[in-house]
Amino acid sequence: MTQENYKRLTVLGATGSIGLSTLDLVRRNHNNFKIISLTAYSRVEELAALAIEFGAELAVIGDVALLPELKVALAGTRIEAHAGEAGLIEAAERETDIVMAAIVGAAGLRPTMAAVRRGVTVALANKECLVCAGDLLMEEVKAHGATLLPVDSEHNAIFQVFDFDRACGVEKIILTASGGPFRGRCRDSLLEVTPEQAVAHPNWDMGAKISVDSATMMNKGLEVIEAYHLFPIEKDQIEVLIHPQSVIHSMVEYTDGSVLAQLGSPDMRTPIAYSLAWPERMHAPVKRLALAEIGALTFEEPDLDAFRCLYLAKEALKTGGAAPAILNAANEVAVEAFLAGRLRFVDISAVVSETLSSCDIKAPQSLSNVFEIDNMARREAARWLGEWAH
Ligand code: NDP
Ligand code: MG
Repeated sequence: MTQENYKRLTVLGATGSIGLSTLDLVRRNHNNFKIISLTAYSRVEELAALAIEFGAELAVIGDVALLPELKVALAGTRIEAHAGEAGLIEAAERETDIVMAAIVGAAGLRPTMAAVRRGVTVALANKECLVCAGDLLMEEVKAHGATLLPVDSEHNAIFQVFDFDRACGVEKIILTASGGPFRGRCRDSLLEVTPEQAVAHPNWDMGAKISVDSATMMNKGLEVIEAYHLFPIEKDQIEVLIHPQSVIHSMVEYTDGSVLAQLGSPDMRTPIAYSLAWPERMHAPVKRLALAEIGALTFEEPDLDAFRCLYLAKEALKTGGAAPAILNAANEVAVEAFLAGRLRFVDISAVVSETLSSCDIKAPQSLSNVFEIDNMARREAARWLGEWAH
């Protein structure tokens, strides 16, 4: 906290689902935060409006071609306008107490790393960062004394109940998964599903890419990899359990048989509020959990045949090296093609699987290495897309 007793906050990915929920909390607690930088990729009008509303110092648009538009929208204000990856990094590097890292996909990696290198508190929503470059990112967190607070609801839940001082007492962590809109369906019944059906998540309101990832269960696979990097546990200590009500956000099982869980309504403003206020708590205007109304909490094993992406992600974690980065890149390419109506839902896993088996899995040694792997995997995935796309 600064002496004025507010926290200076930058939101990377301010116009997205997580970014807007973050700003919703800031709006309701405006005395406790001061917004320094806000970024977006293409929603220039929304970005400018938010920058003006919150009195940001800097607004950055990822797409360089949109800089003139941003400048026009900010004319007459004192808000600086920058663009491109250099601008995103500059936003992350400006002095703040917290950075909310909520850009979607591998594009968030360099800005997030820049924030980590400042040694501040980074509220990490962008799971793809940990999936592509988990070892490198965690090394930098240690080297610069940064504090990484997981925003992803499952990891935030685990963070709240994990005994970091006595990690050897942890037997396993159990990531819960809603199962998405196609829970209980067999692979054959998923042949004709549309992007509209896939993004209609039963419990959570999220961005398009992560909604498709929830429908394929790749999201849970990425979260298994994310958990491995965030917590001091082995690869085989992470389990996935389907829990359709999304009330228990995840659990930690200890060696004495105790299982600790964090519960709440499925609203990302709870884990976001936890990250913004940590180590304190702040009010979040989320629906209070009415367990008597909910009545029953149920659980199922995941179906790795219908939801092959989960299986592929678990295998990529076991393989290690570049496999998780390749998995992530191929998935981003396949999901984009699916959303554009060029690939069938069930073929997302096929593109990911073929890309994984045709790429070199040597571990990345640097961030540029991660991007080389990412580019190579994207090219390979695009080639496989040619086989499967229509
Ligand atoms: P959205 O798609 O809603 O928002 C993404 C944000 O990133 C937008 O501000 C977007 O700008 C910006 N962006 C997109 N592409 C680029 C790029 N190439 N360079 C710079 N900025 C870019 O995503 P979500 O908010 O749903 O998710 C954000 C991250 O949080 C993801 O990694 C996701 O996995 C993770 N997450 C999300 C959850 C959720 O409930 N939504 C839950 C847990 C994790 P623009 O609007 O201009 O396109
Ligand atoms: Mg999650």
